[in-house]
Amino acid sequence: MIKTSIKKLSLIFLVLTASAAIAQEVPTPKSYFGFNIGDDYQLATYTQTEGYFKKVAETSNRVKLTDIGQTEEGRTQYMLIVSSPENLKNLARFKKIAQQLAHAEIEPGQAKALAQEGKAVVWIDGGLHANEVVGTHQLIQTVYELASRKDEETKRILDNVIILFTHANPDGQELVSNWYMREKDPKKRVLANIPRLYEKYAGHDNNRDFYMMNLKETQNISRQLFIEWLPQIMYNHHQAGPAGTVLAGPPYRDPFNYVFDPTILTSLDAVGAAMHNRMNNENKPGYTQRGGSVYSTWYNGGLRTVTYFHNMIGLLTEIVGGPNPSEIPLVPSRLLPNGDSPNPITPRKWYFKNAIDYSVSLNYAVLGYAQRYRDELLYNIYHMGRNSIEKGRKDTWSFSPKKIEAINAAAKNEKGIADNDGEVVLRKQLNVKYFDTVMKAPANRDPRGYIISKDQPDFNTAIKFLNALIKSGIIVQKATSSFTVAGKTYPAGSYVVKTDQAFRPHVLDMFEPQDHPNDFKYEGGAPIPPYDAAGWTLAYLMNVKFDRLLDDFTGPFERNPYGEIIKPENTVATGAGYILNAGQNDTYRAVNDLLKHKQPVYRTVNKGDFYVPASSTAKSILETANIKTNVSATPQNKVKVTPSRIAIWDVYGGSMPSGWIRFLMEQYHFNADVIYPKDIDAGDLKNKYDVIVFVGGAIPSVQASETGGRLTPKTEDTPDEYKGRIGKITAKTSIPQLKKFLTEGGHIVTIGSSTNLAYHLQLPVRNAMVEIINGAEKKLPAEKYYIPGSVLKVRVDTTAQANWGMEKEADVYFDNSPVFKLTDNAAALGKIKPLMWFNSATSLRSGWAWGQIYLQDGITAFEAPVGKGKLLAFGPEITFRAQTHGTFKLLFNQLYQ
Ligand SMILES: [Zn+2]
Repeated sequence: MIKTSIKKLSLIFLVLTASAAIAQEVPTPKSYFGFNIGDDYQLATYTQTEGYFKKVAETSNRVKLTDIGQTEEGRTQYMLIVSSPENLKNLARFKKIAQQLAHAEIEPGQAKALAQEGKAVVWIDGGLHANEVVGTHQLIQTVYELASRKDEETKRILDNVIILFTHANPDGQELVSNWYMREKDPKKRVLANIPRLYEKYAGHDNNRDFYMMNLKETQNISRQLFIEWLPQIMYNHHQAGPAGTVLAGPPYRDPFNYVFDPTILTSLDAVGAAMHNRMNNENKPGYTQRGGSVYSTWYNGGLRTVTYFHNMIGLLTEIVGGPNPSEIPLVPSRLLPNGDSPNPITPRKWYFKNAIDYSVSLNYAVLGYAQRYRDELLYNIYHMGRNSIEKGRKDTWSFSPKKIEAINAAAKNEKGIADNDGEVVLRKQLNVKYFDTVMKAPANRDPRGYIISKDQPDFNTAIKFLNALIKSGIIVQKATSSFTVAGKTYPAGSYVVKTDQAFRPHVLDMFEPQDHPNDFKYEGGAPIPPYDAAGWTLAYLMNVKFDRLLDDFTGPFERNPYGEIIKPENTVATGAGYILNAGQNDTYRAVNDLLKHKQPVYRTVNKGDFYVPASSTAKSILETANIKTNVSATPQNKVKVTPSRIAIWDVYGGSMPSGWIRFLMEQYHFNADVIYPKDIDAGDLKNKYDVIVFVGGAIPSVQASETGGRLTPKTEDTPDEYKGRIGKITAKTSIPQLKKFLTEGGHIVTIGSSTNLAYHLQLPVRNAMVEIINGAEKKLPAEKYYIPGSVLKVRVDTTAQANWGMEKEADVYFDNSPVFKLTDNAAALGKIKPLMWFNSATSLRSGWAWGQIYLQDGITAFEAPVGKGKLLAFGPEITFRAQTHGTFKLLFNQLYQ
């Protein structure tokens, strides 16, 4: 017996040592791909990369391959967890520690102990923007080095850090690498002219989806970041650095977003310094930070930036390089060292390998920092979470530009501020009471929480909003019975989001207005554009009704487990017929399902609610439609609804706004064709379609239509399947076809800059954002009027059929969008029907609206009869990134006959 056991044991021992021996032989990239990562003119596809990752996981005991979900095109998205073999055996424990520290619901003593016991968790991704090919290739190379290197530093990193190497966009890598490698002759390979979006719907906007999480890849990534692993550092690789530099990296320029913890900014300094130092010590010049590039910490919604609202140190680098050798150009202003760029690079040849070497060094710098400051990183995320919870538990006043303005306004008559030779000078200290009047005023406190009543026009859209919060790791509570807060009673099933939670910054950011500072190059000068949007308050964009509570409140609230999605509500009343409220977005999906099943559907002519006569088919569809229906007798005034034949404009390479509408069409079950300029130029449009939708960027301005517009590739260089996509809308060929389509009874929906079509058609409208200079109309300069991506309030004509289901005021996403005024008495003559307009001098709800007074009375949407057809013009981005649920109906209403 004993002998056999020993024999068995030694056998097992032999097997173990044998596999350990094999485990040392991690294949080099060259042995697997046939080229070194960073060789000129060579890119790996995702299929190859996936195979390599599997091989590395098989052969290395430092690597665990994890499937984090499917992509939009059905590929598997992987995350490689890399750490010492010992750590990999205890992953569940280390994950639990990371979660407990990030959630910060434990006492400081326990947190200190866990910070000692835990391992730093660092996320490194690659390939999010698939044409920025350094991203995926540095990921492959870094994984290889961590899996195979035996030096002291690598060992210390593996012992102290759990690295989450995540492929951010598998579909994109497959598309881009195959496109590039399709040329047999390496010297002919180019990345230009990729025929379609490298994320099925969003392309580059896949990095603008991180609070909404429409896309599968975003959901997969967010789950790992905010539900599963809660890393203390996340590093998101991009391209390219500003001309004359190699890369832009942390820390970043202002504005600083006021809602997140200051430790985020000081940590960006610390990790940024570690990255910068390492590059200097390795003689790798050309790193620029802060004002050296455009990246700020203001925006939420990017993969890097969303992490700040979760107390994580989000790193972004934008590096120069690609498989085709290039140059670091001569940019004299970049040569003089300064605080932004202490170690400038001189002009030189630049190879793919240089970019890969830099990237691996940057990764090692971050991992080196993480292994040295492991316990501090772990404790700091706890400390930030704790700060958030405490701020949410007591009266807290956050600073914002508006509050500083209010303090200044209160103090403006203070003695001691004197006008001295035309200059305002402060002669003595301001009385602190001016601070107190603003920063101790009870009404100016930050909310303790928000209540989303079940009793609201579109509760399922509110649930979609809550699910976006839940996917981002936010604690949401549900009322198990009715309750009363501040004199108002809410029904059971209402939801509560309190601010005493670790990710309070994200909660505030989704409910509260962003107050972007007035940011100018110099006093009186041109505005500095924000890196992305200035304002995006998601609750506003989705038209979620909520109450904002400044005092603490309690109730019969049950906590939703982290990451657990809320199911939509479904209430079907049984009767002779059903009324489907036009105010609910999901009504439109149900209607489309009913129409596809040949059910009769009507719209009542007063409000646009849908009426469906009872039938067993209708009942079964409505029972799973996730909407609320009411019973109805047959309404008197109703019109029959039939589906329109819908076309969505797109272009070679793919338009992101068009891709987002394609996404919406699928989500809401509309059938729509995608058409290209050549299809329009071919004519006969009315025989094919009832409605054509043009997103921003489709219709050029009258001035630019002959000369400017999109560059598209040569037909002879383009594979057959994409040849039909080449071309652009022209005044000479396309516009006459669109005019014919309208005259014959077609409808055209234009959004954003494509409202230019109104000018091509010479409709009686003009740009309202102008001033009169020497008797002539001039476009307002940015020094006077500038509204980058922000949320604005508009007045809506609710009697107009185009606006059915809308309320009389709406929050719209506006990005220096077109605003119109009418000419020639156009409204009275029935030539133009205004649909939405600004009825206030202060229309800003969230963001930045310099010179918003000019908006007053401007028309922001209208419809105009053209022959037997109709043009609909929406200035604001009514379908923006599939986030603006509050204005989707403005598109949906136009898609029926
Ligand atoms: Zn990028």
